[in-house]
Amino acid sequence: MAARMVVVSRSAEASNALATALRNGGVDVIVLQGPVHALLLDDDSALAERCGAFGDVVIHRKAPAWPLASNLLRPARSVKIGLGEHGVDVGGTSWVVIAGPCAVESPAQTARITDAVVAGGAHALRGGAFKPRTSPYSFQGLGLAGLELLAAARKKTGRPAVTEVVSANDVDAVVDHADCLQVGARNMQNFALLKAVGETRVPVLLKRGFGNTVDELLGSAEHIMAAGNDQVILCERGIRTFEVSTRFTLDVAAIAWLKQRSNLPVIVDPSHAAGDPKMVGPLALAGLAAGADGIIVEVHDAPHEAKSGGHQALAVDGFIALLAQMKAMAPAFGRTLERP
Ligand code: PEP
Ligand code: MN
Repeated sequence: MAARMVVVSRSAEASNALATALRNGGVDVIVLQGPVHALLLDDDSALAERCGAFGDVVIHRKAPAWPLASNLLRPARSVKIGLGEHGVDVGGTSWVVIAGPCAVESPAQTARITDAVVAGGAHALRGGAFKPRTSPYSFQGLGLAGLELLAAARKKTGRPAVTEVVSANDVDAVVDHADCLQVGARNMQNFALLKAVGETRVPVLLKRGFGNTVDELLGSAEHIMAAGNDQVILCERGIRTFEVSTRFTLDVAAIAWLKQRSNLPVIVDPSHAAGDPKMVGPLALAGLAAGADGIIVEVHDAPHEAKSGGHQALAVDGFIALLAQMKAMAPAFGRTLERP
């Protein structure tokens, strides 16, 4: 049975007494640090009364089923990708730019693109080694060899790297080579994978499934957090609607909605939503204006030769032009593009 409520308390005594009483009554309880709150998933008056009997308890009726991801118990915060001076704070005052190819294809391609995006101002790198593809005959990624190429680019440029993990079996290998584990749209509700990345202490970039609601996205974030990893970054990358003029429909409202209800940073992926390099800039800027903390964008030095994502990748000059636009826009939103 799903947890019917969560209790948080800074005072161990208050929370223990309340938690014990509720547990004895058959209610699942999680105890956290913070003021005493009771989140009731249902509008349950009897339960509210029982909680209220313990004194100064803030009661939230019909609370969301993602207490750890919500901002009811914890204010908005940033998540750091990478360590030390090379670490990048996602969710702070900087708009973070994560850029690179859809897929790591070869040593030369990886080096050319990662050097170019870093020279253009990217704060972190992206590049897939394990590619979830619609067709089994499409390029599936270089696997472990791809991870090694990404790790080499990360070492050379000093920038942290984000890469996708598609199987719980690969989590350890990805952790050894990258700074942030991407869970792709198609795996947003792969609960075994969510648990596996939740058991690491490495930041997770969780993409919204293109057939999933924002409530379900936060449910998936909660799975990762309930497994012990609170380093989660959400990503809006477009959903499927009746509109086919773009590859997916970027749900700009979702970005504002998530920022208003969750404590997690949110980034926008304009590339997969657009499916067209001409639409990437406008969607990126719209996402940032809606409150996103940064972008993850696909860039290729020869898009027509790309083994995946070439139809939507920005060429290097397009990337540089987008960063100039972001830089001009940032002050109006109290943000900067300085390296976070
Ligand atoms: C990707 O980042 O290359 C990717 C496949 O993303 P998504 O899961 O959003 O489709
Ligand atoms: Mn891609």
